[in-house]
Amino acid sequence: MKVGEIETLYQEMGISPEVFRFGESIEKQLKERFEEIDKRAEYNQLKVVQAMQKNRVCEACFYPSSGYGYNDLGRETLEQVYADTFHTESALVRPQITCGTHALAVALFGNLRPGDELLSPVGKPYDTLEEVIGIRPSCGSLAEYGVTYRQVELLKDGTFDYEKIREAINEKTKMVTIQRSKGYLTRPSFSVEQIGRLITFVKSIKPDVICMVDNCYGEFVDVIEPTDVGADLMAGSLIKNPGGGLAPIGGYIVGKKDLVENASYRLTSPGLGKEVGATLGVNQAFFQGFFLAPTVVKSALKAAVFAANIYERLGFPVIPDGKEPRQDIIQAVTLGTPEGVIAFCQGIQAGSPVDSYVAPEPWDMPGYDSEVIMAAGAFVQGSSIELSADGPMKPPYAVYFQGGLTWEHAKYGILMSLQKLAEQNLVSLK
Ligand SMILES: *Cc1c(COP(=O)(O)O)cnc(C)c1O
Repeated sequence: MKVGEIETLYQEMGISPEVFRFGESIEKQLKERFEEIDKRAEYNQLKVVQAMQKNRVCEACFYPSSGYGYNDLGRETLEQVYADTFHTESALVRPQITCGTHALAVALFGNLRPGDELLSPVGKPYDTLEEVIGIRPSCGSLAEYGVTYRQVELLKDGTFDYEKIREAINEKTKMVTIQRSKGYLTRPSFSVEQIGRLITFVKSIKPDVICMVDNCYGEFVDVIEPTDVGADLMAGSLIKNPGGGLAPIGGYIVGKKDLVENASYRLTSPGLGKEVGATLGVNQAFFQGFFLAPTVVKSALKAAVFAANIYERLGFPVIPDGKEPRQDIIQAVTLGTPEGVIAFCQGIQAGSPVDSYVAPEPWDMPGYDSEVIMAAGAFVQGSSIELSADGPMKPPYAVYFQGGLTWEHAKYGILMSLQKLAEQNLVSLK
């Protein structure tokens, strides 16, 4: 073995010369695309550092608080850093927000009252939101509290049905929820500009409607965010983009001061709001993760573009395609067979830094109507800013994959997925 030769090291780590060279040929064509992604990351990196400097982030911000967590300097400073980065009046960034669904639920429950109506003008929301809203009957849903819900489907081409949206807005409509990322659907994800046009339209019909954006997987993909184009509230998960891979838990809500405050009364308690909530030592990870987030998102974007181009070249349908602009970090690849989905996921797992020696198998996950296979060798459980993939075991046999804390690792993971497919003769690299 020649030390220092990358192809040899790849080979030692399970990547055949054919797969390696195929990957190299694809990567070569992506130079300009990657430069664009680098430029955006540079802008976003500055944006975050500017907010940190302006708010005088200091070592004392990293001290843990306990108990009630009164006057937690780190927590209060971090929330101001988020607010400034996303150009909002206020922010709630907390380890007590357990995940993205919880952040969205807190924002909804905090701002809706019995008799109000919630509208989704972009079709069905993310699976877990169905139970929050009560689209699927569920204990404790908004529906149980007398909050009604309406949904307007997207047009066939994935754009907004402005006529139907106009008809759906009524005297009860209090809040509109817009999901930026397609999540695990096959509709397109929306650009920030598109979301801006939708918000402008909604407000032209009813100016006091609260427009909330589910920004999960969207942070730092573009140089502007939904709050730059009129969103009153925006929420997401810290084990996705803004946690930068370092946040071990958490969610955020940013937006207008009164709306964020309403959410805080739901998160903690009426009367207490943002004033309580010990941080137990997570502040440093939150700050440092947010600092790293623009470059981590950059790696995840390069991974998504690389995978799209690899599998597109091999003849598989990919969403988004290899050339389209990106609005989130998710890549769907339709492999067309159960064996393909399993091989892909096992490759991602085998390429992980953690739990690389286990082989994931499809299983009956609660809440899904078919078996699902999931690959994640992550430092933080369920973290999908880390390289991860999952696929429902049903036609069209697509895998959804996302993340990658470093581009170098993501590249290896994707080559590993290709290796597994090649070993089973499910692809031909010729
Ligand atoms: C991940 C995600 C959520 C929910 O986040 P969890 O952290 O899994 O609860 C909501 N909406 C979208 C678009 C997501 O991608």
